[in-house]
Amino acid sequence: MSEARYQVEVKESDKSLRLNEEVKKELQSSGMLDEKGRLKISGVSAKMLKRMKQEYVDCPVLNKQIPFLQCYICKNFISRIKGQVYCKGEPL
Ligand code: SF4
Repeated sequence: MSEARYQVEVKESDKSLRLNEEVKKELQSSGMLDEKGRLKISGVSAKMLKRMKQEYVDCPVLNKQIPFLQCYICKNFISRIKGQVYCKGEPL
């Protein structure tokens, strides 16, 4: 993937990660989170969603751990293939 500056491994925490309000709003406006705060992503099973909430990346741009769901809606996100996020790596 030529436009990807970074390939970042998706890691799994042993508990669900908190999402900040900005990320929640973004997920809501994209229809991925309902009013009750439940995640809904088409084609993704409940079991997968539960796991997804525990996933994070060590973001090379923000230099900290970022919940995968936040990474997923980040403007640098290109795709996720085999547990790796392809990231454009532009300054945020
Ligand atoms: S897509 Fe965004 S959150 Fe994910 S690793 Fe790249 S800069 Fe960080």
